[in-house]
Amino acid sequence: PPRIIGLTGGIGSGKTSVAKLLEKKGFPVYYSDDEAKNIVNKDSELKEKIIALLGEEAYQDGKYNRKFVAKKVFIDSEVLNELNHLIHPAVRLDFEKWVRSQTSEFIFKETALLFELNLHEQCYKSLLVTADDNLRIKRTMDRDSKTYREIEAIMYKQMPEKDKIKLADYVIYNNSDLENLQAETNAFLTKLN
Ligand code: ATP
Repeated sequence: PPRIIGLTGGIGSGKTSVAKLLEKKGFPVYYSDDEAKNIVNKDSELKEKIIALLGEEAYQDGKYNRKFVAKKVFIDSEVLNELNHLIHPAVRLDFEKWVRSQTSEFIFKETALLFELNLHEQCYKSLLVTADDNLRIKRTMDRDSKTYREIEAIMYKQMPEKDKIKLADYVIYNNSDLENLQAETNAFLTKLN
């Protein structure tokens, strides 16, 4: 079976950039956070469970009503918890199915919450992408229409970088340009082999 490497990093760290570089080198990547967003529309069993939890309004014209759900979970963290308990196992099953279809020696699972959800324990190795806070904020501001304060607030709710660095098997420091990120990614692959 393929060896799964958990790929993670906080907001604006560059984990998706690294994932794309790995894909270019031929490594399969499963984007857990994207899949979690898609699965609420793809998995009909999950859809039924979400409607049972949140009501018919959770879907509008058959499509997941993200605005409605966001409001519901914002006012009730217990509902958020229950919703996550529906979505996470569905993503896990989808991931396991994907893994079974892979033939590469190494495959990557990209997820923001690798350590927070203890998913690294189910991986062969973990790879953390990190960068200085100010760079992460600046890069996220350039990408999204969020303010400095908004990004900072998200950042400080995430697990501190020093804790993630302790848990990670490999760390890529993304404090320079994209050319350097490519070189760091190559250096990681050399260590992996
Ligand atoms: P998030 O969790 O917020 O989605 P992420 O960890 O996936 O973030 P990326 O989307 O890869 O991070 O990177 C954030 C932004 O910074 C992107 O627009 C990306 O193109 C840019 N970026 C990443 N690394 C560098 C770099 N070394 N130099 C310049 N820009 C970079």
